[in-house]
Amino acid sequence: MRSGGVKVKTYNIGYCQQFAKIACKAKPFKKIKFWARTLLLDIPEVGAVLIDTGYSQHFFKATKKFPYRIYRMITPVKLDNQMEKTLKKEKVDYVLLTHFHPDHIGGLKNFPESKWIFLSDGLKNVRGLKGFKALRKGFIPDLLPEQVPVGSIGLESSQFDEFPFSKEFPAVDLFGNQTLFAFELPGHALGQIGVAFQKGMKWILYVADGGWCLEGIRDGSPPNFLGLLVQHDRKQYLETFWKLHHLLKNDKSIEIITTHGNEELSYE
Ligand SMILES: [Zn+2]
Repeated sequence: MRSGGVKVKTYNIGYCQQFAKIACKAKPFKKIKFWARTLLLDIPEVGAVLIDTGYSQHFFKATKKFPYRIYRMITPVKLDNQMEKTLKKEKVDYVLLTHFHPDHIGGLKNFPESKWIFLSDGLKNVRGLKGFKALRKGFIPDLLPEQVPVGSIGLESSQFDEFPFSKEFPAVDLFGNQTLFAFELPGHALGQIGVAFQKGMKWILYVADGGWCLEGIRDGSPPNFLGLLVQHDRKQYLETFWKLHHLLKNDKSIEIITTHGNEELSYE
């Protein structure tokens, strides 16, 4: 197994505000920032892989009209313009889309030259949807370019047949050199995936919306009933959540990073 070869940069592209209790039921009804965090990974022999895109100015254009405006009203977004500009200048070979919600694909149009990595079922689930049908799945059609770029990697569930860090999380070796694995995170959105890579003796797991904050996963405090209401499949979501909790509790080599939490990163 390779170790230490992956370099990581993190970008918080903006945030929206929600009640802490929605992310983690042990917390109070107090507003907190839900960050839109992305990771830019430099993968040996492959190049730069951006994990999710966060928001961008495209989000505001795409949500100007009704009914997409409703999304913006429910989750008022504050974009970090400077951070978006900085990230946009980076050379990105691949954009890995953990799932197709606006806070994860919102900046995809900033990377027209990049290939995509995604779960085929996740794309099929939203492609072509418009209006309320789209909105119900948390999908804003104008954020997704018409064509999947040539050379993109559409993953099939049957490919997830390796277990590099846990027997609970089937994974696929994305580039065949054991530097970056995608693993399935069912429940939050159809076709959600996370990524795993090694830094020294640690396994770093970016779990996207598999949990909305690290404290919640660590302390075994899932979202409250409102937070659970918006999950694609609540039962699957909670199964995934508790698997992450037990993995983090029982294996000291595991570090977890969520998209929306405010955790400090110890591996940069
Ligand atoms: Zn999501």
